[in-house]
Amino acid sequence: MLKIHNTLTGKKEEFVPLVPGKVGMYVCGNTVYDFCHIGHARAMISFDIISRHLRFSGFELNYVRNITDVDDKIIKRAAENNETPESLTLRMIEAQTQDELKLGNKLPDREPKATEFMQEIIDMIAVLVEKGFAYQGSTGDVYFRTEKHADYGKLNNRKLDEMLAGARIDVESAKENPADFVLWKSAKEGEVHWQSPWGIGRPGWHIECSAMSTSCLGPHFDIHGGGPDLKFPHHENEIAQSECANGTDYVNYWMHCGAVRVNNEKMSKSLGNFFTVRDVLEKYNPEVIRFLMVSSQYRSPIDYSEQSLLEAKVGLERMYTSLQGQDFATEYVSSGYTERYQDAMNDDFNTPVAISVLFDLVRELNKAKASGADNAPSLAKELSVLAELLGLLGQDPEYFLKNSVVNDGISEEEIEAFIAERIQARKDKNFARSDEIRDSLAEQGITLLDTREGTSWTRR
Ligand code: ZN
Repeated sequence: MLKIHNTLTGKKEEFVPLVPGKVGMYVCGNTVYDFCHIGHARAMISFDIISRHLRFSGFELNYVRNITDVDDKIIKRAAENNETPESLTLRMIEAQTQDELKLGNKLPDREPKATEFMQEIIDMIAVLVEKGFAYQGSTGDVYFRTEKHADYGKLNNRKLDEMLAGARIDVESAKENPADFVLWKSAKEGEVHWQSPWGIGRPGWHIECSAMSTSCLGPHFDIHGGGPDLKFPHHENEIAQSECANGTDYVNYWMHCGAVRVNNEKMSKSLGNFFTVRDVLEKYNPEVIRFLMVSSQYRSPIDYSEQSLLEAKVGLERMYTSLQGQDFATEYVSSGYTERYQDAMNDDFNTPVAISVLFDLVRELNKAKASGADNAPSLAKELSVLAELLGLLGQDPEYFLKNSVVNDGISEEEIEAFIAERIQARKDKNFARSDEIRDSLAEQGITLLDTREGTSWTRR
């Protein structure tokens, strides 16, 4: 039985889909004005793992993740770059897809773009205006009337009065109430815009997701997910808009993944501790990043640091080493690990426990290899099948072990040549040259290990 922690109730609940055997899942995707950073990667990988487990559990899943391709940040960045918003967003969508495939994700079933759902967005706003849940202010912008939604605040467990007490009173605003939020923004001169009953403009961010999720999955569906900072106000506002426009419950299970912290601080551009997926892929094999993300349960915060990446690298190397030289059995038979893996994942997608099951399997496989037991191929097969459910161990073991960090310039042949030269230098008692070679390799991230058998090396 699958249990999911539901943000709406704050409890772990048995998962019961609306239609037996089928699941509709909508996840808020990125605003595409820049390259994905590791916080985005965390959310994308979390929901990829969740979708894989839902499918492995036999559910027929429809996984929809939107793309916000119209937004103030996009308009601003495109103007800075001297390009159109469309050319910027198309480049960034392509970059996101490349990053995501490198990180081992399967793409969602559908990735709707806000600009392709303008009619649905306008129609939904029109319904809200007609029912009295929205109004056009004196500046031309259309707002949602939060007071009219009796349940407003239910996701975040806040009362409207409490929210108002803390709200900044904006004297310029045409809102009836400071907690009201924008559904349609009138366009400024020269800005990208669409025609609407309220004049030319563009949609607010929240209404996009209500319109796209309703179009793709219907007014009431099973799972809605997103990053930790989307709970408020984005998801609260989505609930209000959708329930008021459609006159039905919106989502049964709300899921939010945890944040990524860098060296125990919040990751932010202003602190200068901000990493794009591309930055990290320049140094590490993509599976190392994925392993780091999967090592924590999706709801926990992740501490991202050089140290945590190195620990992930060492963990993966242990798994790949156990697969080295193994002929996999073609037949997949569980020796009990699959059931333990499923139990872990059925407990709100508890990936750290699932990974510990894989390490138990690695230990048994290593013992079987050492003793020449004939169940080694079968254990190796089970390990690779279970790891695949997490998007791991997809590379050739020999390849991974030599490329767990990105080769930063010096090739294996060059390293071997330097080692040979160093051996000769030591025979010649030219210790200055020998030390020089060691230091030079160390600067390039290569550590030499002198043993009785000779000299071996690793990349740091
Ligand atoms: Zn959204």
